[in-house]
Amino acid sequence: MIRYSRQRIDEADIAAVVAVLQGDWLTTGPAVDAFEAALCELTGAAFAVAFANGTAALHGAAAAAGLGPGDVVATSPLSFVASANCARYVGATPTFVDIDPATLNLDVAAVPVGLDALVAVHYAGLPVDLARLAHRPRIVIEDAAHAIGALTPDGPVGNCAHSDLCCFSFHPVKPITTGEGGAVTTNDAELAARLRRFRNHGIVPTPEAGGWSYEVVDTGYNYRLTDLQAALGTSQLAKLEAFTIDRNRAAARYRELLADDPIVLPPLAGEGWRNAHHLFAVRVEDRRRIYEGLHAAGIGAQVHYVPIHHHPLMAPYGPFDLPQTDRAYEQLLSLPLYPGLTAADQDRVIDVLRSLW
Ligand SMILES: *Cc1c(COP(=O)(O)O)cnc(C)c1O
Repeated sequence: MIRYSRQRIDEADIAAVVAVLQGDWLTTGPAVDAFEAALCELTGAAFAVAFANGTAALHGAAAAAGLGPGDVVATSPLSFVASANCARYVGATPTFVDIDPATLNLDVAAVPVGLDALVAVHYAGLPVDLARLAHRPRIVIEDAAHAIGALTPDGPVGNCAHSDLCCFSFHPVKPITTGEGGAVTTNDAELAARLRRFRNHGIVPTPEAGGWSYEVVDTGYNYRLTDLQAALGTSQLAKLEAFTIDRNRAAARYRELLADDPIVLPPLAGEGWRNAHHLFAVRVEDRRRIYEGLHAAGIGAQVHYVPIHHHPLMAPYGPFDLPQTDRAYEQLLSLPLYPGLTAADQDRVIDVLRSLW
């Protein structure tokens, strides 16, 4: 099976994890500190806080931002459910801004006035143009689960040039992996302190009352990343640039070879932007037949995503009128794309696709 995405692990990654196993710390310790420092260096953000997964990172961002009951939090309906659930987790109300079909991202011109927060999803790895939001909510959170390695004219995604907090996922299908993992970057020291408390039970050490002493000052969780995972993350991060170049190379090859096929290719990144290309999401007619034909031939194409507002969980917040997302969902299909995908694999994907037109 050629999957739509997968991790790329080498001997250096394996050695990094084994070295942690031979040391004194297995869970959050020096390897997490090193991973967070590497994330700051890559993104240019002042602070990075590692989390157990990307969903926990989004939950942490919503909590640290002080969102709660009565707040309205919009996101893109063309995303994974976690992009909206982070609002629900803190008691806020999720809503949606329809996509711009030219970018497949939420339409920055359609962001309404009066939102408390926006969770901006960089779909497939193409950054949302946050400098051009029609109305800037009190809080802007980036869901950059697809987009570590992406660039904007204002620098790397994760530098929070136009946001308060930026969340990453390190699930194995994402641009780099820690098995399960996530992180939040920010330039605000108070937000960073809240994120650290949130991932560790709301605990604040109080050494003045004794070396053992601590206080629990707000609701927190055990959302810590382990040192085992963080060591893998730092090792992976060293290869992110090569991975991103490889994903973009494979994407360019699909574009060239599929230029004359009956297919809508993914949006191109503009001058000064770089797509991290977590996904290569094309639009096809008769998507179900194409999906099933590819799977029957061992090609694990995928659909990103069942729109969030289609899930029964979201019914109490609707109804929603999101025609661009509904239309795109009928046609979207993610073709296999990952670092190390060979030209022969790509040719096979294209041959099977052509047999299905
Ligand atoms: C993967 C993903 C998440 C959740 O990340 P996990 O690490 O799987 O919890 C959130 N948002 C988007 C857009 C994602 O693709």
